[in-house]
Amino acid sequence: MTRTPTARLMDGAGLARRVNAATASAVEEIRRRTGTAPCLATVLVGEDPASVTYVRMKQTRCAKAGIRSRHIALPASVGTGELVEAVAALSHDPEVHGILLQHPVGPHIDERAAFEAIAPDKDVDGVTTHSFAAMGFGLPGFVSCTPGGILRLLDEYGVDLAGRHAVVVGRSAILGRPAGMLLLGRDATVTYAHSRTADLPALVREADVLVAATGRPGLIRGADIKPGAVVVDAGYGPGNVGDVEFGAAAERASLITPVPGGVGPMTIAVLLAQTVEAARRRLGPA
Ligand code: NAP
Repeated sequence: MTRTPTARLMDGAGLARRVNAATASAVEEIRRRTGTAPCLATVLVGEDPASVTYVRMKQTRCAKAGIRSRHIALPASVGTGELVEAVAALSHDPEVHGILLQHPVGPHIDERAAFEAIAPDKDVDGVTTHSFAAMGFGLPGFVSCTPGGILRLLDEYGVDLAGRHAVVVGRSAILGRPAGMLLLGRDATVTYAHSRTADLPALVREADVLVAATGRPGLIRGADIKPGAVVVDAGYGPGNVGDVEFGAAAERASLITPVPGGVGPMTIAVLLAQTVEAARRRLGPA
C-alpha cells in the first residue's frame, strides 16, 4: 500500500521571493534618499567551481535587487597575510556596506584570521566571532545567513518553538552551531548531534523540530521522524539531495522543507536583506 505524504511543504523559494521583493523596495528607498545604492563586496579565493557558482548566484541576486557588487578575485596561491589585507581594505572602504568572503578559502590559509578582518558592521554573512557572540547573547547584529533563513521559515509557518525539543544535526560554525543558538534564543530545548553522537536515530525520534545540517545524503531515515515533527533539511548534496530521506519523512512530519527550494533560497535572501540593513545603518535611517 502506498502512503501519501501528510506534511505541508515549507516553501523557501516563495518566501525568499517575498523577502527579496521587500529588499528591492528598501534599496530603491535608500537610493532615492541618498543617491547611493547598497554595495556588497564578494571575495573569492581560487576557482573552485562550486564557489564560483555560489558567488555568481549572489551577484545575480544582488543585481536583481538593485544592490551593487564589488568583486575581488584572488589566486588560489594567495597567503593569509595578503587575503587579510584585501578584506581589511574593504572593511575600511566607505563605498562598501557588506562583505562576503566565500569559503572554503583553501587549507593553507588561516580562514578565521581572514573572517576576523571583516568589520562587524559589514559582516552581513555573520561569520565573525563578534557576530557569533552577539547572536549568542541575543544582541543586535548580523546572524549567519542559513540559520537566519531557517528561523524566518519557521516563523513564516507559525512554528512555536518555546518548550519544543529541537535536535540540530551538525555543529559547523556557519550552520549547525548558530542554528542551535537561534533556536535556544527562542526558548526551544536544544540538543546538538554530530559525527561522534552515539545513537543518532534515538535522538531524531525525540525531535519536535529537526534541523539536519550535515551534507550526508539520506543520513536521517524517514522512519525515525517523530509523527507531527517539523523537519528542516539544510543539507545539499550533488543531485539536489538533502540529509533527510524525504518521501518517508514527509509521511510522518507536519511540516518539511523540500530540497531544493527550502533552506537554500532563504540563505541568499537573508544575505541581501542584511546588506541593505548594513547600508541603512551607515547611510542613516529613513
Ligand atoms: P560541515 O562543516 O562539513 O559540517 C558537517 C557537520 O555534520 C559536522 O558538524 C559533522 O560533525 C556533522 N556530521 C557529519 N557526519 C555526521 C554523521 N554521520 N552523523 C551526525 N553528524 C554528522 O558542513 P556545513 O558547512 O555545516 O554544511 C552542511 C550541509 O549544509 C552541506 O550539505 C552544505 O552543502 C549545506 N549547506 C547549505 C546551505 C544552504 O544555503 N542551503 C548553506 C551552507 C551549507 P563533526 O563536527 O563531528 O565533524
